[in-house]
Amino acid sequence: MRNRLPTRPSGRLIALLLAITVVPLVSLVWLGWKLLEEDRNEIIARESRALTTAADAVTSALDRAIAIDDQRAAGGADKWEPGAVVVTFTGSRLDAVPRRLAYYPVMPKLPETAADAFDAVDRAEFQLREPKTQIDLLERLVTSADPVLSATAKYHLFRVLESQGQHDRAFRLSEPLLEADRIGVATTPIALATRFKRCQALELRKLVAALQQEAEALHRDLTSGRWTLDASTYELYLGDARRWLKLDPKEPTVEERLAGAAAVLWRDRSPQIGRTASLPQRQTVSVGSDVFTVLWQPRPGSARALIATADYARTHWLARAVEAGRGAHVEVTVPALSSTSIPPDARTEIRTADATNLPWDFAVTRAPGAVATDGRSRRPFLLGGLAILMVMALTASYFIARAVHREIAVARMQSDFVAAVSHEFRTPLTTLRQFTDMLREGGATDEERRQLCYDAQSRATTRLTNLVESVLDFGRMEAGKRPYRFESVSCSEVVEPVVSDFQREIQTAGYRIEYHADESADIDADPEALGRALRNLLENAVKYSPDQRTVEVAVTRQPSSVSIAVTDRGIGVHASEKKAIFDQFHRGTEARTRGIAGTGIGLAMVDHIVRAHRGSVQVESEPGKGSTFTIVLPVRA
Ligand code: ADP
Repeated sequence: MRNRLPTRPSGRLIALLLAITVVPLVSLVWLGWKLLEEDRNEIIARESRALTTAADAVTSALDRAIAIDDQRAAGGADKWEPGAVVVTFTGSRLDAVPRRLAYYPVMPKLPETAADAFDAVDRAEFQLREPKTQIDLLERLVTSADPVLSATAKYHLFRVLESQGQHDRAFRLSEPLLEADRIGVATTPIALATRFKRCQALELRKLVAALQQEAEALHRDLTSGRWTLDASTYELYLGDARRWLKLDPKEPTVEERLAGAAAVLWRDRSPQIGRTASLPQRQTVSVGSDVFTVLWQPRPGSARALIATADYARTHWLARAVEAGRGAHVEVTVPALSSTSIPPDARTEIRTADATNLPWDFAVTRAPGAVATDGRSRRPFLLGGLAILMVMALTASYFIARAVHREIAVARMQSDFVAAVSHEFRTPLTTLRQFTDMLREGGATDEERRQLCYDAQSRATTRLTNLVESVLDFGRMEAGKRPYRFESVSCSEVVEPVVSDFQREIQTAGYRIEYHADESADIDADPEALGRALRNLLENAVKYSPDQRTVEVAVTRQPSSVSIAVTDRGIGVHASEKKAIFDQFHRGTEARTRGIAGTGIGLAMVDHIVRAHRGSVQVESEPGKGSTFTIVLPVRA
């Protein structure tokens, strides 16, 4: 039996418990949080480094791609993919390679015949109204050795013949003029003027199919940039061609857009040619909603520029940069080349045109779902480790708390036990002292009184002996040193003497035992131990029945067992305590509140003894109504 008492106050114990559980837990959470934060910062730093490296790679890829085209333009390359054109500004001229501009800021002066060469013809037409004369005059001029004069005459002859209704001849005559690009009439190439006049003639004659064909040729030549026209001339002729072809208005062609960009460049830059060294060499030019990239190459007295549409820039330059970024899991955005803007994201690195010497600003963004190299793998590991530590800490805390709780409960029970035993001892000791004092001081004068004293002393001594025996027995049982001497006995042989002895003891207190016995059964038992167990049950039945003074004892025989039931009509046992009351030192709540004395070892002993007899103790009880404790023992085979 342990006699350690709870010396520390439970408040301090709880504080200690909290210290050893809560403090490590809190530290663990704090440590985990710090580690995760560090991990997060590390990932952010790594991502940002990766982004900078990727942005550098993208910058140099873009620079390389653009430099290649820059060099080709400088070298005078004439093959360019659609969307790019190289324009050369020389004095008042602007040339395009390939001839990809729909119109030009300036129209070159084509060789034309002096106006007065046709004075006689004009007079015949307007004053004399003599078409015959007019035709004769023109036919003579057609044969001129001067190709410009001959072509111009042919053009006028075609007009006059047409107006005279000589359509076939007129058209035949005009055929070679359709190739005359380098001769002008009224500032327009004769080829264009002729084609246009032919369309007009066919329209007048309502020759729909032929007009369609002729207008298509006109449209094709205009839009392919065959002639160097200015914007208004181009639009004038194109407007008619489209009308004849019944074309819906549509988006400007690439050639028209490039022409627009060239016009803006011409307007803004040609005045500065020759002193252009300070002009930005790579920049953008906006025309309406279009953005063109311009690679400007100043030269002495002239300048050359590669003009590229956004499409060209995307497919020829940006595509390479995107390729370079793909390996680094980044996306490249050039707001100037697409309608997208730079995403407002922390994981974006912006490079400005000024810093990179590229034509535009661009942004490098981490591709969605991209993982920085060996990036996140530490996080699950950390979280997993922390979770395991937390679970371990919580489990340890739980077990520590449970162990401490048990220790406290045991300590309290032991202390209650010591108090209870002392109390139990005190009552018979007081009785003994009183009667001994009475005898010593001659208080018991007659024999009858003396006898009463002796009886009282004897009862007190028996009670003390029983008490000491119980405690010692319990101690021996606990230590496993209680020897049992089994013998074959009849159950009633054990029960009856205990019952009748006990009946005698309690009858003065007004208690009565009703004893019923079936036919008895032979059992293997240690009569002394079994008797003590039964006695314990009887003592409890009396002790916990303050109001009802009848206790029933019934021995019942079953085929293979025999049961000894002790029934009282006392305070009963609460259902929740039915198991615990068999634990050593455990005292029922009701028993304690009512102040009923006890040590809490009785039922533990009963249980111990009955188990040693290979039997069991059962309890049926209802609080306030009474209890039945039944010892069930196997019958001897
Ligand atoms: P003690 O009687 O000394 O307290 P026991 O081990 O004999 O110790 O009993 C344990 C508890 O079981 C008691 O404190 C009491 O609450 C309950 N108990 C035992 N017998 C009875 C009974 N006959 N009626 C009501 N309660 C009982």
